[in-house]
Amino acid sequence: MPHTYMSRQKNNRESARLLRQRPLIISGPCSAETEQQVLETAHALKSIGRVDVMRAGIWKPRTRPGNFEGVGAVGLDWLQQAKKETGLPIAVEVATAKQVEKALAHQVDVLWIGARTTANPFSMQEIADSLRGAKVPVLIKNPINPDIELWIGGLERIQKAGIEEVGLIHRGFSTYGNSEFRNIPTWQLAIEMKRRFNELPFLIDPSHICGKRSLIQNVVQNAIDLDYDGMIIESHIRPDEAWSDAQQQITPGELLKLLNNIVWRKDGLSSEEINESLDRMRRIIDNLDDEILTLLGKRMEIAEQIGGLKKTHNLTVLQTTRWNQTLMRLYEHAKRLGLSPEFVDQYFNAIHMESIKHQTKIIS
Ligand code: PEP
Ligand code: MN
Repeated sequence: MPHTYMSRQKNNRESARLLRQRPLIISGPCSAETEQQVLETAHALKSIGRVDVMRAGIWKPRTRPGNFEGVGAVGLDWLQQAKKETGLPIAVEVATAKQVEKALAHQVDVLWIGARTTANPFSMQEIADSLRGAKVPVLIKNPINPDIELWIGGLERIQKAGIEEVGLIHRGFSTYGNSEFRNIPTWQLAIEMKRRFNELPFLIDPSHICGKRSLIQNVVQNAIDLDYDGMIIESHIRPDEAWSDAQQQITPGELLKLLNNIVWRKDGLSSEEINESLDRMRRIIDNLDDEILTLLGKRMEIAEQIGGLKKTHNLTVLQTTRWNQTLMRLYEHAKRLGLSPEFVDQYFNAIHMESIKHQTKIIS
C-alpha cells in the first residue's frame, strides 16, 4: 500500500471543511499539460482569491482514441508542488482502482468521478472497493445518459464503501443532433436529484455543459438561481492553447469576472430582492421555453422521417386511430401533472398540425 491510514485521515480533516464552503468553487485546467502550466495556473487561481480547490485532469477519458489522453501520474507531482506553493487543495478525476491508489498516495484532497465512469456500474464498484477505508471526499458527476437511477447507483456504491464526504456534479447529458450545448443540461433531472439528496453539496460544471465560453455565465446563473452550492469550472492560463477542451476554458481573470457578475441568492426578500427573484424565475422560464422549442424541433425531424416511410409505403399522412390513441395517452399523463384536457387539446393539436405540414411537404 503506497498510502497510509494516517495520511488519509489528515486528508479528510482538511477536506471535510472544503466541501462545506459556500459557494464552493473548484477550478483549474481540463488537463494538466506541463509542470509550468500547472504551477502558473495554480498561482493565478490563488491570486483571484475565490477558488477553494484546484482541479486538473491527469488521466483523460476521451470519447475517441487519438486525442490527448492525459500526462498520467507525473502530473500528480506537479499538482502536489502547486499545492505546496499556493496552499490550494487539489482535485483529480479517477476512473480505476489504480488511479485511486496513485491519487491517494499523492495526497490528493478531492477525487471526482467522470460522467463516462458513472455510467458504468462495474467501474463504479471497482472504484468503490478501492476507496474502502479511505477518507477522501468524492464528487460524482452525472452519467452521460439521462438516467437518474444510474447516478444514484454510483453514489450509493461510493457511500457503501464508507466514504462519508460525497457531493454531486451536474455536467449535462449527451445528445444526438443539433443543440447549442455540448451536453444538454436537462435541468429537471438535476433538480430531481438535488431534491432527493438535498443534504449533499450539489455543483454545476458549466464547462462541460456549454462546450463554449459564451454560454457559461448564463448556465452558472441558472444553477445559482436553483440554489446549487457551487461549481467546478475549467480555467487555463492560455485557453486557446489548451491540449483538451480549449473552447470551453477561461482564464483565471475571466473566472473572477464571471464570479463578480453572478447575482448570488440571499435569504429573505426586500422589494428589490423580489424583483431580482422574479428575474431569476423568468430566466429559468426562458431556459425551459428554449428546451421545449428544441424538443419540438426534434419531434418535427422524426415526423419528417415518418413522412418518408409513409411515402415509400403509400400510406395516408393522417392516421386517425393512431392520433386518437396518442391523445388519450396524453390526457392521462397531463392529468397526473395537473394540466387540463383543454390545454392538451389546444397544444397538441397545434403540434400535430405542424407535424402534418412537415409530412405533407415530404410526401408531395
Ligand atoms: C473533465 O472534467 O475534464 C471531464 C472529462 O468531464 P466529464 O466526465 O464531465 O466529461
Ligand atoms: Mn474537460
